[in-house]
Formats: sequence, structure tokens, C-alpha cells
Amino acid sequence: MAARKPRKATVPVPAAKQCGPCNGTGEVARTVRVGRTKRPVGQQTGICLACFGTGEATD
Ligand SMILES: [Zn+2]
Repeated sequence: MAARKPRKATVPVPAAKQCGPCNGTGEVARTVRVGRTKRPVGQQTGICLACFGTGEATD
């Protein structure tokens, strides 16, 4: 029986991929516009629809 080389105990665990649009925060800032001229009145933080707030990229 051939002895196998012992594997290293420290196997790097692949970290969860960060969601792109929100950079892993789960929230995205979007500009709020009003009126016919689309005048920006500020920014609003909304849940990231790409990861649904988890911050992890989904396949
Ligand atoms: Zn996201």
C-alpha cells in the first residue's frame, strides 16, 4: 500500500463571492429623481436586488 502524502491541515476555504453591484454590503445607493426634468433630489439606500441583501454573489 503506497503511503499518501499527508495533506496540509490548513486548506483555504473559498470565501463567499462578494456581490458586484453592492460590493458585499447588500445595499445599493440610488439617486432619487422627481419631476419631468428628472431632477435629482437626493440618494436613497435600497436593498440590492442582485443578492437580496445578503451581500453574497449568487449564481
Ligand atoms: Zn448585492
